[in-house]
Amino acid sequence: MDRVDSNAVLAALRQVVPAGAGPVALHEPEFNGNEWTYVKQCLDDGMVSSIGSYVDRFERMLADYTGAGHAVAVVNGTAALHVCLRLVGVQEGEEVLMPALTFVATANAVHYCGAMPHFVDSSEKTLGVDPVKLEAYLREAVTLTSAGCINRRSSRRIRALVVMHTFGHPAELDALTDVCRKFGLELVEDAAQSLGSRYQGRHVGTWGKAAALSFNGNKILTTGGGGAILTADPALAARARHLTTTAKIPHRWAYTHDEVGFNYRLPNINAAIGCAQLEQLPDFVDRKRRLAELYQQALAGVGGVHLFHEPAGARSNYWLNALMLDRPGVSARDALLAQTHDHGLYTRPVWTLMHRLPMYLGCPRTDLSVAERLEASVINLPSSARLCHAATMAQTPQQQRGA
Ligand SMILES: *Cc1c(COP(=O)(O)O)cnc(C)c1O
Repeated sequence: MDRVDSNAVLAALRQVVPAGAGPVALHEPEFNGNEWTYVKQCLDDGMVSSIGSYVDRFERMLADYTGAGHAVAVVNGTAALHVCLRLVGVQEGEEVLMPALTFVATANAVHYCGAMPHFVDSSEKTLGVDPVKLEAYLREAVTLTSAGCINRRSSRRIRALVVMHTFGHPAELDALTDVCRKFGLELVEDAAQSLGSRYQGRHVGTWGKAAALSFNGNKILTTGGGGAILTADPALAARARHLTTTAKIPHRWAYTHDEVGFNYRLPNINAAIGCAQLEQLPDFVDRKRRLAELYQQALAGVGGVHLFHEPAGARSNYWLNALMLDRPGVSARDALLAQTHDHGLYTRPVWTLMHRLPMYLGCPRTDLSVAERLEASVINLPSSARLCHAATMAQTPQQQRGA
């Protein structure tokens, strides 16, 4: 059981994604709804830029779908994260806790604020920040003062915790909310991968003060490029609008700006694609959840590996399926990556952990042994929603024979 038989893994994956259709991407967008109609309307009306009815409509749809209250559409998920951190008051010289196991944008957004990422470990149960380990660490590492939560070693204030819902699987938001309350930290959610995921029935991105979504080309829903800020607080939503519109004071003709803002608003033409995509999101989520089931069934009899399953209390969008090695090891992982690539299946490992990247080598961090184990264990599998159809069709003859 220890050694992974990469031929057996490949054969299992081929039950789900049959050979013959050419190389299979990790994640492809799908435009089978009203995309053409809505984009054509933008072009016909000449409303392609940042003012237009699709921006308002997209924001309303996002707020309704997630239950967040308010959504502010922006140019990409990184910009959304940057603004979220500004909204919760992250200042130059402060620290922000975040997982080492994430995409680089999470750390970059902290850096853009002049603050420093402070890396914490992940949980094997959720792939997100481990609340128990985080609390134990903070008890040792910080002092609570009238000036907030202070890192005893660096003397810097720790302002916030950013949690990231890895591959669409929610982190333990209830326990993490508690840790933030105990230590006077603001909770920000990097929900870039998790639109459509819920924890205890409540959509992710609605647990902290502010959250970021991404609509990049490989996410569950795409606007070409795009992102959004979610918040329940109308004052924060107004501030987000102001900051992302060059901090311009609304006026019929005058151009006056009351602080250094950003040109971060989403163009109407992208929002038009977003409206059409959001209409299809429940179907995308259903098909991706069924695809995960198919992978799970196909891999059930294969020794040494398993498919990552949504955590307790979660309903995940299964943005990317994760094959896990029961015994983590970089050489076994890389052998499987090579084998699948050789056969036209685009698989990939997790992102290089943040504390290993040259620009973040010097950042404070806790023990990261679980993140390191996960790094040596995870292989992401092709996860486009359309593969669910392919898999269903491929199984039909077998099912007929079996019946
Ligand atoms: C995609 C992603 C982002 C950034 O989104 P962009 O729209 O590409 O800027 C941020 N964080 C995580 C975890 C992501 O996966």
